[in-house]
Amino acid sequence: MSRLDSFIRRVSAQRDCLNAAAELIRDVPGPVLEFGLGNGRTYDHLRMLFPERLIYVFERQVAAHPDCVPPDECLLLGDLRETLDTAGEVIGAPAALAHIDIGSGDPAANAELAAFLAPRLRRLMAPGGVVVSDQDLGVPEWEALRPPPSVRPGRYFMARV
Ligand code: SAM
Repeated sequence: MSRLDSFIRRVSAQRDCLNAAAELIRDVPGPVLEFGLGNGRTYDHLRMLFPERLIYVFERQVAAHPDCVPPDECLLLGDLRETLDTAGEVIGAPAALAHIDIGSGDPAANAELAAFLAPRLRRLMAPGGVVVSDQDLGVPEWEALRPPPSVRPGRYFMARV
């Protein structure tokens, strides 16, 4: 599989999982959390899926397409190891959906970041909320959900809180 194939599969999996999550949280009130703005592709998709919800974005350094930069009041700027502990005060309500896309090419660093993120994310989520992530966050209390059939096993992860 070429890197182009791999990229296409990754972004297709993101889109298909986020679309599926939109159905799953239809009756769960609350904002959406986006971890990893990047160039804003998935943020833009979330805006399209959830025009009526606030979307809070965690990002170390904004380098997104100018059309995809969140408003200041919804941007938690900085390393999430520093912003996450007090994020609940900014967000102000339990979240219905979190999308985690902060992985790098370094599996050890990814695992370390996931271990930091998972217990803190639990505190930000509403009961019945959904977590969509680029890696398995390994929270035993969450119900693992099967991603849509178009997504290859292990490519993207979904869980119900
Ligand atoms: N979802 C984005 C999109 O569709 O364009 C791509 C996200 S990109 C793969 C990962 C992003 O996570 C990068 O912009 C990076 O700066 C951010 N990131 C990685 N580790 C982070 C950390 N510890 N704190 C805050 N942001 C982080």
